[in-house]
Amino acid sequence: MRTAQRMADLPPYLFAEIDRKKEAKQAQGIDVISLGIGDPDTPTPEHIVDAMAKAIRNPANHQYPSYVGAKRYREACAEWMRRRFGVALDPATEVLALIGSKEGIAHLFPAFVDPGDYTLVPGVGYPVYHTGGILVGGRTHWMPMTRENGFLADFKSTPADVLAQAKMMFLSYPNNPTSAVAPVEYFDEAIAFAKEHDLLIVHDNAYSELGYDGYKAPSFLERPGAKDVAIELFSMSKAYNMTGWRVAFAAGNPDAIKALGTVKSNIDSGVFTAVQDAAIEAMLGPQESIAELNALYERRRDLVIEALDSIGLSADPPRGTIYVWARVPEGYTSAEFASTVLEEANVIVAAGTAYGPDGEGYIRISLATPDHRLTEAIERIKNAL
Ligand SMILES: *Cc1c(COP(=O)(O)O)cnc(C)c1O
Repeated sequence: MRTAQRMADLPPYLFAEIDRKKEAKQAQGIDVISLGIGDPDTPTPEHIVDAMAKAIRNPANHQYPSYVGAKRYREACAEWMRRRFGVALDPATEVLALIGSKEGIAHLFPAFVDPGDYTLVPGVGYPVYHTGGILVGGRTHWMPMTRENGFLADFKSTPADVLAQAKMMFLSYPNNPTSAVAPVEYFDEAIAFAKEHDLLIVHDNAYSELGYDGYKAPSFLERPGAKDVAIELFSMSKAYNMTGWRVAFAAGNPDAIKALGTVKSNIDSGVFTAVQDAAIEAMLGPQESIAELNALYERRRDLVIEALDSIGLSADPPRGTIYVWARVPEGYTSAEFASTVLEEANVIVAAGTAYGPDGEGYIRISLATPDHRLTEAIERIKNAL
């Protein structure tokens, strides 16, 4: 049996590698604390679970779902966008149900990228922005993303020959892994740039609902002209603690929505309709859980920033997301530091380089970990160093 060349071109999937190391340690009876993965540790709010329990008993939901999402689901997505951001969308042509935003990101590549085409990808970002391109024979242009530029991916420095073969650009703020947020002027510049170079912008807004110190993230689609060049991805995963449910949506430019929908209709058969009903409850039901979640993460953020400071690791306090992006101590690479911490302290942190070349010199610490485990992890790192 011979797998395709592109399989060899894929980097090892970050979390799979972390999981393997963790399991090896656990098999030896060692208590490993993982600060590596961004998966909420608290459960889905009860009213959403109740909606699912009811929806699953509806036989109409037992049949194949609609490819594009149930009409009531797409209408709920549009209504949520209107309530939350004041963005108007046509649920018939400008909203598409996704089996999680990861699925949408991956399927945008066959819709937009021919072999050899470039995708403009943030210098650090969600890994699928890069691996999705590899799977279709595309190429990645990493947009520089540094602390000096506020971790705002620098699309303006993209060389002309790359731009001539580029079709799509990913952006994502509040940002995983750097936790940076973007001023709206940056979005406006991106829109002008995309118009000039005929690019689709995909704004991944997975963390729109998680903001601290009063920060409330905007939608990219609030910006004038955004819908001419952009789609935005929203997910129930982080906002409503629904990572396991696999439900999200794409919204915005109708041509891009249509192209993505065409790829999907040839590959998958949509989101389980009962799950869509639960997501409708999440979006249009009580929203108190979001404030509670933010209070929880904000408390943990303060605890981590203070503890890191006490051991000489520096990090800017995030205003959004569930990550702290911390600089590694002098004399270590990201991978060396992550490996030292796992070996010596039995704590998993994600090496910054797993998110792209500009991650060198950083680690990512996830706040989706109970308070006492977070404090213990940092205590262990302190003792190990
Ligand atoms: C978690 C995450 C996703 C994946 O979301 P799903 O809807 O669960 O697939 C997408 N983008 C970013 C930046 C994320 O951190």
